[in-house]
Amino acid sequence: MKATTERLDTVDVARLQSVLDGRWASIRNEVRGLVRSSPWLRSGSGLSTDAYRARVAEQARALSQTKGARLFFPKSSGGEGDIGGALTAFEMLALVDLSLLVKIGVQWGLFGGVIQNLGTPKHHERYLRHAMTMDLPGCFAMTETGHGSDVQSVRTTATYDPQRHQFVVHTPDDDARKDYIGNVAKDGRMAAVFAQLITMGKSRGVHVLLVPIRDEKGRPCPGVRIEDCGEKEGLNGVDNGRLWFDEVRVPRDALLDRYGTVAPDGTYSSPIENETKRFFTMLGTLIAGRISVSGAALSATKLAQTIAVRYGLGRRQFHAPGSDQEVILLDYLQHQRRLLPALATTYALHFAQESVVTTLYELSSQTAGAERERRTLEALAAALKVA
Ligand SMILES: Cc1cc2nc3c(=O)[nH]c(=O)nc-3n(C[C@H](O)[C@H](O)[C@H](O)COP(=O)(O)OP(=O)(O)OC[C@H]3O[C@@H](n4cnc5c(N)ncnc54)[C@H](O)[C@@H]3O)c2cc1C
Repeated sequence: MKATTERLDTVDVARLQSVLDGRWASIRNEVRGLVRSSPWLRSGSGLSTDAYRARVAEQARALSQTKGARLFFPKSSGGEGDIGGALTAFEMLALVDLSLLVKIGVQWGLFGGVIQNLGTPKHHERYLRHAMTMDLPGCFAMTETGHGSDVQSVRTTATYDPQRHQFVVHTPDDDARKDYIGNVAKDGRMAAVFAQLITMGKSRGVHVLLVPIRDEKGRPCPGVRIEDCGEKEGLNGVDNGRLWFDEVRVPRDALLDRYGTVAPDGTYSSPIENETKRFFTMLGTLIAGRISVSGAALSATKLAQTIAVRYGLGRRQFHAPGSDQEVILLDYLQHQRRLLPALATTYALHFAQESVVTTLYELSSQTAGAERERRTLEALAAALKVA
Protein backbone atom coordinates (compact mmCIF):
# COMPACT_ATOMS: atom_id res chain seq x y z
CA MET A 1 0.00 0.00 0.00
CA LYS A 2 1.25 3.50 -0.87
CA ALA A 3 0.32 6.10 1.71
CA THR A 4 -0.12 8.91 -0.81
CA THR A 5 -2.22 12.03 -0.37
CA GLU A 6 -4.46 11.09 -3.37
CA ARG A 7 -5.70 8.01 -1.54
CA LEU A 8 -6.34 9.93 1.68
CA ASP A 9 -8.30 12.58 -0.24
CA THR A 10 -10.81 9.94 -1.29
CA VAL A 11 -11.96 9.46 2.32
CA ASP A 12 -15.17 11.33 3.15
CA VAL A 13 -14.06 12.43 6.61
CA ALA A 14 -17.45 13.74 7.77
CA ARG A 15 -19.16 10.51 6.73
CA LEU A 16 -16.49 8.36 8.36
CA GLN A 17 -16.77 10.39 11.57
CA SER A 18 -20.53 10.01 11.55
CA VAL A 19 -20.18 6.22 11.21
CA LEU A 20 -17.57 6.11 13.98
CA ASP A 21 -19.47 8.45 16.31
CA GLY A 22 -22.47 6.14 16.06
CA ARG A 23 -25.67 6.29 18.04
CA TRP A 24 -24.41 8.73 20.70
CA ALA A 25 -22.76 11.17 18.24
CA SER A 26 -24.40 14.17 19.91
CA ILE A 27 -22.88 13.19 23.28
CA ARG A 28 -19.45 12.81 21.68
CA ASN A 29 -19.81 16.30 20.20
CA GLU A 30 -20.90 17.75 23.55
CA VAL A 31 -17.82 16.29 25.25
CA ARG A 32 -15.57 17.61 22.47
CA GLY A 33 -17.13 21.06 22.95
CA LEU A 34 -16.72 20.90 26.73
CA VAL A 35 -13.06 19.90 26.47
CA ARG A 36 -12.34 22.63 23.90
CA SER A 37 -14.01 25.35 25.97
CA SER A 38 -12.67 24.28 29.39
CA PRO A 39 -9.02 25.12 30.07
CA TRP A 40 -9.51 23.69 33.59
CA LEU A 41 -9.82 20.23 32.01
CA ARG A 42 -6.15 20.05 31.08
CA SER A 43 -4.28 16.94 32.22
CA GLY A 44 -2.42 17.02 35.54
CA SER A 45 0.16 14.56 34.31
CA GLY A 46 3.65 15.67 35.42
CA LEU A 47 2.46 17.42 38.60
CA SER A 48 3.52 16.17 42.05
CA THR A 49 1.21 13.47 43.46
CA ASP A 50 -0.44 15.91 45.91
CA ALA A 51 -0.96 18.60 43.27
CA TYR A 52 -2.21 16.04 40.73
CA ARG A 53 -4.73 14.62 43.22
CA ALA A 54 -5.94 18.13 44.08
CA ARG A 55 -6.33 19.00 40.39
CA VAL A 56 -8.26 15.80 39.65
CA ALA A 57 -10.53 16.24 42.70
CA GLU A 58 -11.34 19.80 41.59
CA GLN A 59 -12.01 18.70 38.00
CA ALA A 60 -14.23 15.85 39.21
CA ARG A 61 -16.26 18.22 41.40
CA ALA A 62 -16.74 20.59 38.46
CA LEU A 63 -17.76 17.74 36.15
CA SER A 64 -20.27 16.50 38.72
CA GLN A 65 -22.33 19.63 37.97
CA THR A 66 -22.50 18.79 34.25
CA LYS A 67 -24.62 16.53 32.08
CA GLY A 68 -21.80 13.94 32.16
CA ALA A 69 -22.73 13.09 35.76
CA ARG A 70 -26.48 13.20 35.21
CA LEU A 71 -26.34 10.66 32.38
CA PHE A 72 -25.23 7.96 34.85
CA PHE A 73 -28.08 8.47 37.31
CA PRO A 74 -31.81 7.71 37.10
CA LYS A 75 -34.35 10.45 36.47
CA SER A 76 -35.84 9.86 39.93
CA SER A 77 -32.56 11.09 41.46
CA GLY A 78 -32.20 14.16 39.24
CA GLY A 79 -30.24 12.34 36.54
CA GLU A 80 -30.98 11.62 32.89
CA GLY A 81 -30.86 7.81 33.07
CA ASP A 82 -28.99 7.22 29.82
CA ILE A 83 -26.38 4.52 30.43
CA GLY A 84 -25.43 4.46 26.72
CA GLY A 85 -24.76 8.20 26.73
CA ALA A 86 -22.96 7.93 30.09
CA LEU A 87 -20.57 5.24 28.85
CA THR A 88 -19.93 7.16 25.62
CA ALA A 89 -19.15 10.40 27.50
CA PHE A 90 -16.89 8.40 29.82
CA GLU A 91 -15.03 6.89 26.86
CA MET A 92 -14.50 10.39 25.41
CA LEU A 93 -13.22 11.83 28.70
CA ALA A 94 -10.50 9.18 28.69
CA LEU A 95 -8.87 11.34 26.01
CA VAL A 96 -8.37 14.08 28.64
CA ASP A 97 -6.78 12.33 31.62
CA LEU A 98 -7.06 8.73 32.81
CA SER A 99 -6.75 9.72 36.49
CA LEU A 100 -9.75 12.03 36.15
CA LEU A 101 -11.59 9.22 34.42
CA VAL A 102 -10.90 6.73 37.23
CA LYS A 103 -11.86 9.30 39.88
CA ILE A 104 -15.29 9.94 38.35
CA GLY A 105 -15.64 6.28 37.42
CA VAL A 106 -15.25 5.30 41.08
CA GLN A 107 -17.66 8.03 42.23
CA TRP A 108 -20.48 7.72 39.69
CA GLY A 109 -20.01 4.32 38.07
CA LEU A 110 -18.87 2.17 41.01
CA PHE A 111 -20.11 3.91 44.17
CA GLY A 112 -23.25 5.35 42.51
CA GLY A 113 -23.67 2.18 40.44
CA VAL A 114 -23.57 -0.23 43.37
CA ILE A 115 -26.15 1.84 45.29
CA GLN A 116 -28.37 1.99 42.24
CA ASN A 117 -28.08 -1.69 41.30
CA LEU A 118 -27.83 -3.46 44.65
CA GLY A 119 -29.72 -0.96 46.82
CA THR A 120 -33.46 -0.46 47.22
CA PRO A 121 -35.56 2.75 47.06
CA LYS A 122 -34.56 3.86 50.59
CA HIS A 123 -30.89 3.86 49.54
CA HIS A 124 -31.67 5.54 46.22
CA GLU A 125 -33.58 8.35 47.91
CA ARG A 126 -30.96 8.88 50.59
CA TYR A 127 -27.74 8.69 48.59
CA LEU A 128 -27.96 8.74 44.79
CA ARG A 129 -28.38 12.49 44.31
CA HIS A 130 -25.45 13.16 46.67
CA ALA A 131 -23.31 10.59 44.86
CA MET A 132 -24.09 12.32 41.57
CA THR A 133 -23.23 15.83 42.81
CA MET A 134 -20.23 14.54 44.81
CA ASP A 135 -21.61 16.01 48.02
CA LEU A 136 -21.00 12.48 49.26
CA PRO A 137 -17.61 11.34 47.95
CA GLY A 138 -17.70 7.55 47.91
CA CYS A 139 -15.56 4.46 47.44
CA PHE A 140 -16.10 0.97 46.09
CA ALA A 141 -14.33 -1.31 48.58
CA MET A 142 -14.33 -4.74 47.00
CA THR A 143 -10.68 -5.81 46.62
CA GLU A 144 -8.72 -7.11 49.61
CA THR A 145 -4.99 -7.70 49.84
CA GLY A 146 -5.60 -11.46 49.83
CA HIS A 147 -8.43 -11.60 47.29
CA GLY A 148 -8.82 -9.51 44.13
CA SER A 149 -10.23 -11.45 41.19
CA ASP A 150 -11.89 -13.98 43.53
CA VAL A 151 -14.43 -11.61 45.10
CA GLN A 152 -16.55 -14.49 46.41
CA SER A 153 -13.72 -15.30 48.86
CA VAL A 154 -13.26 -11.86 50.45
CA ARG A 155 -12.91 -12.18 54.23
CA THR A 156 -14.26 -8.93 55.67
CA THR A 157 -17.30 -9.85 57.79
CA ALA A 158 -20.62 -8.10 58.45
CA THR A 159 -22.24 -9.85 61.41
CA TYR A 160 -25.81 -8.94 62.34
CA ASP A 161 -26.55 -8.06 65.97
CA PRO A 162 -30.35 -8.55 66.51
CA GLN A 163 -30.21 -6.85 69.94
CA ARG A 164 -29.09 -3.53 68.51
CA HIS A 165 -30.36 -3.97 64.93
CA GLN A 166 -26.89 -3.28 63.60
CA PHE A 167 -24.22 -4.95 61.50
CA VAL A 168 -20.71 -5.22 62.88
CA VAL A 169 -18.20 -4.78 60.05
CA HIS A 170 -14.80 -6.28 60.78
CA THR A 171 -11.41 -6.88 59.17
CA PRO A 172 -10.11 -10.13 60.71
CA ASP A 173 -6.45 -9.62 59.66
CA ASP A 174 -4.19 -7.72 57.26
CA ASP A 175 -4.88 -10.16 54.44
CA ALA A 176 -8.53 -9.01 54.57
CA ARG A 177 -7.84 -5.26 54.57
CA LYS A 178 -9.41 -3.42 51.63
CA ASP A 179 -6.60 -2.55 49.25
CA TYR A 180 -6.05 -0.20 46.33
CA ILE A 181 -9.46 1.39 46.81
CA GLY A 182 -9.96 4.62 44.82
CA ASN A 183 -11.01 7.77 46.73
CA VAL A 184 -9.96 6.25 50.09
CA ALA A 185 -6.64 7.96 50.81
CA LYS A 186 -7.98 11.51 50.76
CA ASP A 187 -11.50 12.33 49.69
CA GLY A 188 -13.94 9.44 50.36
CA ARG A 189 -16.52 9.79 53.15
CA MET A 190 -18.47 6.56 52.64
CA ALA A 191 -17.46 3.14 51.33
CA ALA A 192 -19.58 0.44 49.71
CA VAL A 193 -17.95 -2.51 51.48
CA PHE A 194 -18.08 -6.06 50.12
CA ALA A 195 -18.26 -8.45 53.08
CA GLN A 196 -19.42 -11.93 54.09
CA LEU A 197 -22.84 -11.46 55.67
CA ILE A 198 -23.39 -13.51 58.83
CA THR A 199 -26.72 -13.66 60.64
CA MET A 200 -28.08 -16.12 63.23
CA GLY A 201 -24.67 -17.82 63.14
CA LYS A 202 -24.91 -18.61 59.42
CA SER A 203 -22.85 -17.13 56.59
CA ARG A 204 -24.96 -15.96 53.64
CA GLY A 205 -22.18 -15.03 51.22
CA VAL A 206 -20.89 -11.70 49.92
CA HIS A 207 -23.16 -8.66 50.31
CA VAL A 208 -22.48 -4.93 50.19
CA LEU A 209 -22.96 -2.43 53.03
CA LEU A 210 -22.58 1.34 53.10
CA VAL A 211 -20.06 2.23 55.80
CA PRO A 212 -19.11 5.84 56.69
CA ILE A 213 -15.31 6.13 56.73
CA ARG A 214 -14.77 9.86 57.38
CA ASP A 215 -16.78 12.57 59.09
CA GLU A 216 -17.66 15.93 57.50
CA LYS A 217 -14.30 17.35 58.56
CA GLY A 218 -12.42 14.52 56.83
CA ARG A 219 -11.41 12.69 60.04
CA PRO A 220 -11.55 8.85 59.98
CA CYS A 221 -14.67 7.49 61.71
CA PRO A 222 -14.21 5.54 64.97
CA GLY A 223 -12.91 2.02 64.29
CA VAL A 224 -11.86 2.83 60.71
CA ARG A 225 -8.15 2.83 59.88
CA ILE A 226 -7.07 4.43 56.61
CA GLU A 227 -3.70 4.19 54.86
CA ASP A 228 -2.52 5.87 51.67
CA CYS A 229 -1.23 3.53 48.92
CA GLY A 230 1.11 6.39 47.96
CA GLU A 231 2.70 6.96 44.61
CA LYS A 232 1.91 4.40 41.90
CA GLU A 233 3.35 3.55 38.48
CA GLY A 234 0.52 5.59 36.95
CA LEU A 235 -2.89 7.15 37.72
CA ASN A 236 -1.30 9.30 40.42
CA GLY A 237 -4.21 11.72 40.34
CA VAL A 238 -6.29 9.03 42.09
CA ASP A 239 -5.99 8.69 45.88
CA ASN A 240 -5.93 4.90 46.28
CA GLY A 241 -5.85 3.64 49.84
CA ARG A 242 -6.32 0.78 52.31
CA LEU A 243 -9.07 0.29 54.86
CA TRP A 244 -9.38 -1.71 58.07
CA PHE A 245 -12.60 -1.99 60.11
CA ASP A 246 -12.37 -2.72 63.82
CA GLU A 247 -15.87 -3.89 64.76
CA VAL A 248 -17.50 -0.88 63.12
CA ARG A 249 -21.26 -0.73 63.74
CA VAL A 250 -23.69 0.37 61.04
CA PRO A 251 -27.52 0.30 61.09
CA ARG A 252 -29.45 -2.62 59.60
CA ASP A 253 -30.50 -0.54 56.59
CA ALA A 254 -26.85 0.06 55.61
CA LEU A 255 -27.14 -3.29 53.82
CA LEU A 256 -27.79 -2.86 50.09
CA ASP A 257 -30.60 -5.38 50.13
CA ARG A 258 -32.02 -5.80 46.65
CA TYR A 259 -30.88 -9.43 46.51
CA GLY A 260 -30.74 -10.33 50.19
CA THR A 261 -32.22 -8.75 53.29
CA VAL A 262 -32.10 -9.28 57.04
CA ALA A 263 -35.26 -8.80 59.13
CA PRO A 264 -34.97 -7.03 62.53
CA ASP A 265 -34.87 -10.43 64.30
CA GLY A 266 -31.99 -11.58 62.06
CA THR A 267 -33.96 -13.76 59.63
CA TYR A 268 -32.32 -13.76 56.21
CA SER A 269 -34.32 -13.83 52.97
CA SER A 270 -33.47 -13.50 49.30
CA PRO A 271 -35.37 -13.72 46.00
CA ILE A 272 -32.51 -15.99 44.81
CA GLU A 273 -32.16 -19.15 46.88
CA ASN A 274 -28.85 -20.43 45.48
CA GLU A 275 -25.92 -18.52 47.02
CA THR A 276 -23.60 -18.74 43.99
CA LYS A 277 -26.37 -17.73 41.60
CA ARG A 278 -27.20 -14.80 43.89
CA PHE A 279 -23.56 -13.72 43.98
CA PHE A 280 -23.17 -13.77 40.19
CA THR A 281 -26.50 -12.00 39.72
CA MET A 282 -25.27 -9.26 42.05
CA LEU A 283 -21.95 -8.92 40.22
CA GLY A 284 -23.76 -9.06 36.87
CA THR A 285 -25.66 -5.87 37.69
CA LEU A 286 -22.31 -4.05 37.93
CA ILE A 287 -21.54 -4.74 34.26
CA ALA A 288 -21.42 -1.04 33.28
CA GLY A 289 -18.15 -0.73 35.24
CA ARG A 290 -16.61 -3.47 33.13
CA ILE A 291 -17.80 -1.92 29.88
CA SER A 292 -16.48 1.49 30.93
CA VAL A 293 -12.99 0.02 31.40
CA SER A 294 -12.88 -1.36 27.84
CA GLY A 295 -14.14 2.01 26.52
CA ALA A 296 -11.40 3.88 28.38
CA ALA A 297 -8.70 1.47 27.20
CA LEU A 298 -9.98 1.89 23.66
CA SER A 299 -9.64 5.68 23.88
CA ALA A 300 -6.09 5.41 25.20
CA THR A 301 -5.25 3.08 22.29
CA LYS A 302 -6.83 5.44 19.74
CA LEU A 303 -4.80 8.34 21.11
CA ALA A 304 -1.53 6.40 20.90
CA GLN A 305 -2.30 5.23 17.37
CA THR A 306 -3.29 8.68 16.17
CA ILE A 307 0.09 9.98 17.30
CA ALA A 308 1.96 7.04 15.73
CA VAL A 309 0.10 7.14 12.38
CA ARG A 310 0.34 10.92 12.03
CA TYR A 311 4.04 10.78 12.76
CA GLY A 312 4.48 7.92 10.29
CA LEU A 313 2.74 9.97 7.60
CA GLY A 314 4.79 13.09 8.27
CA ARG A 315 8.34 11.92 8.82
CA ARG A 316 10.61 11.01 5.90
CA GLN A 317 13.82 8.97 5.98
CA PHE A 318 16.17 7.88 3.15
CA HIS A 319 15.85 8.53 -0.56
CA ALA A 320 14.14 5.88 -2.67
CA PRO A 321 16.45 4.64 -5.46
CA GLY A 322 16.15 6.96 -8.47
CA SER A 323 14.05 9.51 -6.60
CA ASP A 324 14.94 12.92 -5.26
CA GLN A 325 12.28 12.59 -2.55
CA GLU A 326 12.80 10.99 0.85
CA VAL A 327 10.40 8.17 1.73
CA ILE A 328 7.69 8.70 4.34
CA LEU A 329 7.87 6.17 7.18
CA LEU A 330 4.45 4.69 6.48
CA ASP A 331 5.55 3.67 2.98
CA TYR A 332 7.98 1.19 4.54
CA LEU A 333 6.33 -2.24 4.65
CA GLN A 334 7.85 -3.05 8.01
CA HIS A 335 6.36 0.14 9.49
CA GLN A 336 2.96 -0.73 7.98
CA ARG A 337 3.13 -4.24 9.41
CA ARG A 338 3.76 -2.83 12.87
CA LEU A 339 1.03 -0.20 12.86
CA LEU A 340 -1.77 -1.27 10.55
CA PRO A 341 -2.85 -4.56 12.18
CA ALA A 342 -3.11 -2.72 15.52
CA LEU A 343 -5.08 0.04 13.80
CA ALA A 344 -7.46 -2.47 12.19
CA THR A 345 -7.94 -4.23 15.55
CA THR A 346 -8.79 -0.90 17.15
CA TYR A 347 -11.48 -0.19 14.52
CA ALA A 348 -12.94 -3.65 15.17
CA LEU A 349 -12.89 -3.08 18.94
CA HIS A 350 -14.50 0.34 18.46
CA PHE A 351 -17.52 -1.24 16.75
CA ALA A 352 -17.60 -4.10 19.28
CA GLN A 353 -17.67 -1.53 22.10
CA GLU A 354 -20.48 0.43 20.42
CA SER A 355 -22.45 -2.79 20.03
CA VAL A 356 -22.00 -3.80 23.70
CA VAL A 357 -22.97 -0.30 24.90
CA THR A 358 -26.07 -0.35 22.68
CA THR A 359 -27.13 -3.76 23.99
CA LEU A 360 -26.65 -2.64 27.60
CA TYR A 361 -28.69 0.51 26.92
CA GLU A 362 -31.51 -1.51 25.38
CA LEU A 363 -31.51 -4.11 28.16
CA SER A 364 -31.43 -1.40 30.84
CA SER A 365 -34.90 -0.24 29.81
CA GLN A 366 -36.27 -3.73 30.60
CA THR A 367 -36.68 -4.32 34.32
CA ALA A 368 -36.87 -8.11 34.02
CA GLY A 369 -36.51 -10.98 31.56
CA ALA A 370 -34.04 -11.31 28.68
CA GLU A 371 -31.87 -13.48 30.96
CA ARG A 372 -30.09 -15.15 28.06
CA GLU A 373 -29.25 -11.78 26.46
CA ARG A 374 -27.95 -10.50 29.80
CA ARG A 375 -25.66 -13.52 30.27
CA THR A 376 -24.38 -13.15 26.68
CA LEU A 377 -23.69 -9.47 27.28
CA GLU A 378 -21.77 -10.26 30.48
CA ALA A 379 -19.56 -12.71 28.56
CA LEU A 380 -18.97 -10.21 25.74
CA ALA A 381 -18.18 -7.39 28.17
CA ALA A 382 -15.68 -9.57 30.05
CA ALA A 383 -14.01 -10.59 26.77
CA LEU A 384 -13.85 -7.00 25.52
CA LYS A 385 -12.27 -5.84 28.78
CA VAL A 386 -9.34 -8.24 28.35
CA ALA A 387 -9.05 -7.81 24.54
C1 LIG B 1 -5.04 1.76 40.08
C2 LIG B 1 -5.94 0.76 40.70
C3 LIG B 1 -7.18 1.15 41.20
C4 LIG B 1 -8.02 0.23 41.81
N1 LIG B 1 -9.22 0.66 42.35
C5 LIG B 1 -10.01 -0.23 42.99
C6 LIG B 1 -11.23 0.20 43.62
O1 LIG B 1 -11.61 1.38 43.59
N2 LIG B 1 -11.98 -0.73 44.27
C7 LIG B 1 -11.61 -2.05 44.33
O2 LIG B 1 -12.34 -2.82 44.94
N3 LIG B 1 -10.46 -2.48 43.75
C8 LIG B 1 -9.65 -1.61 43.10
N4 LIG B 1 -8.47 -2.04 42.51
C9 LIG B 1 -8.10 -3.44 42.63
C10 LIG B 1 -8.37 -4.22 41.34
O3 LIG B 1 -9.71 -4.26 41.05
C11 LIG B 1 -7.73 -5.59 41.51
O4 LIG B 1 -6.37 -5.37 41.30
C12 LIG B 1 -8.27 -6.61 40.53
O5 LIG B 1 -9.56 -7.02 40.92
C13 LIG B 1 -7.35 -7.84 40.43
O6 LIG B 1 -7.09 -8.37 41.67
P1 LIG B 1 -5.59 -8.68 42.14
O7 LIG B 1 -4.76 -7.46 41.90
O8 LIG B 1 -5.65 -9.22 43.52
O9 LIG B 1 -5.07 -9.77 41.11
P2 LIG B 1 -5.17 -11.36 41.25
O10 LIG B 1 -6.57 -11.76 41.54
O11 LIG B 1 -4.11 -11.84 42.16
O12 LIG B 1 -4.82 -11.75 39.77
C14 LIG B 1 -3.50 -11.52 39.22
C15 LIG B 1 -3.38 -12.26 37.92
O13 LIG B 1 -3.47 -13.66 38.19
C16 LIG B 1 -4.07 -14.32 37.09
N5 LIG B 1 -5.33 -14.96 37.52
C17 LIG B 1 -6.02 -14.79 38.69
N6 LIG B 1 -7.12 -15.54 38.70
C18 LIG B 1 -7.16 -16.21 37.53
C19 LIG B 1 -8.07 -17.14 36.94
N7 LIG B 1 -9.19 -17.54 37.58
N8 LIG B 1 -7.80 -17.59 35.70
C20 LIG B 1 -6.69 -17.19 35.04
N9 LIG B 1 -5.78 -16.32 35.54
C21 LIG B 1 -6.02 -15.83 36.76
C22 LIG B 1 -4.34 -13.27 36.03
O14 LIG B 1 -3.23 -13.16 35.19
C23 LIG B 1 -4.46 -12.01 36.87
O15 LIG B 1 -4.25 -10.85 36.11
C24 LIG B 1 -7.63 -1.13 41.89
C25 LIG B 1 -6.40 -1.53 41.36
C26 LIG B 1 -5.56 -0.61 40.77
C27 LIG B 1 -4.24 -1.08 40.23
